[in-house]
Amino acid sequence: MNTNSLSAQIINALHSVCGEAPVSLHDPVFKGNEWNYVKNCLDSTFVSSVGEYVNRFEVNLAKYTGSKYAVAVVNGTAALHIALIMAGVKPDDEVLIPTLTFVATANAVCYCGAIPHFVDIKEQNLGIDPTSLRIWLENISEQQNGICINKLTGRTIRALLPMHAFGHPCAMNELKKIAIEYNLFMVEDAAESLGSWYGNKHTGTIGEIGILSFNGNKIITTGGGGAILTNDSELAGRAKHITTTAKKPHKWAFEHDEVGFNYRMPNINAALGCAQLEGISGFVKSKRKLFVRYKTAFSEIPLLRLIAEPIGCKSNYWLQTILLDRSIENYRDSIIEDTNNAGFKTRPSWILMHHLKQFVNCPKAPLAVAESVSKRLINLPSSANLV
Ligand SMILES: *Cc1c(COP(=O)(O)O)cnc(C)c1O
Repeated sequence: MNTNSLSAQIINALHSVCGEAPVSLHDPVFKGNEWNYVKNCLDSTFVSSVGEYVNRFEVNLAKYTGSKYAVAVVNGTAALHIALIMAGVKPDDEVLIPTLTFVATANAVCYCGAIPHFVDIKEQNLGIDPTSLRIWLENISEQQNGICINKLTGRTIRALLPMHAFGHPCAMNELKKIAIEYNLFMVEDAAESLGSWYGNKHTGTIGEIGILSFNGNKIITTGGGGAILTNDSELAGRAKHITTTAKKPHKWAFEHDEVGFNYRMPNINAALGCAQLEGISGFVKSKRKLFVRYKTAFSEIPLLRLIAEPIGCKSNYWLQTILLDRSIENYRDSIIEDTNNAGFKTRPSWILMHHLKQFVNCPKAPLAVAESVSKRLINLPSSANLV
């Protein structure tokens, strides 16, 4: 096989699934009450930091995910920042994160003055690999008074931050066991996985705290937005407090009892979110159908496979993804170029975090699987309106 014939087969498959080019990677779908709620919001003049839609969005998010509490914030990165503060992450601590992730995960660690510590992933679900993580921690960490210390750096490893890549749940039972055993606070980056379940638990509700993103390219959007999920009433109250400038509730007085953040989600964004959330089950259904179509269309093409939901999980299939066989990893860039030239937006996965110059000196476990897999991943057009 040569790269031209492979690209031609892939373009054919994309064509049969998506129809005529141009086809974007991920478009939002506004077919419900979006206009209605946003107009109500404008008519009410409460577009900003006061208004009913924020409460409603939080209540409905909690209901949908089965989380006891949800706190809406300006974006997923801010949600991660606050989640890590609540995890007790302090300057000079380390936080274990996958090297295969969007840069926000690593940035949020740095906002706390802490240091990302990169760990490897599993090829099957693209999330943190519990087996290699355990071996790594056995080798490099020790417990001192209930605190996990990195023997190589002398720093505290405070938290474990799994990310559910492209919507596929990580091996949460195993990761949770490790978190408990090694005294690590678990924060879940579920930015990409609203609508994905690990067993009967929604992603983002298994660790102590989880976060969601509602950026324009995520499964539902508020324009920009995010949320913090937790079952702990104290953490929820504190998250609300510090994301709203730590202002003590009062009719007119402005008293703030700590350095807080202006991370509150504006009401107009929440109005959009309320309408989008009404459509979530439909979006998930469409994306799952899209996966089945891709699977059929790509089944004849050798040396590649689609990433599928792990056993026992239900994935939202946020971004459909193919993984090339090692033997053709050098074809990836030409496949991406050819498909984009044909009008089908495809893209590689993120550059691994430990290769970014701001993170090259951060601690890291052996990262062989991520190194190999990241050269072979291609995201395909994934909008819910393709089916
Ligand atoms: C989208 C995303 C975020 C944060 O998103 P915002 O754009 O800040 O809302 C964080 N982590 C991952 C893995 C993401 O994909």
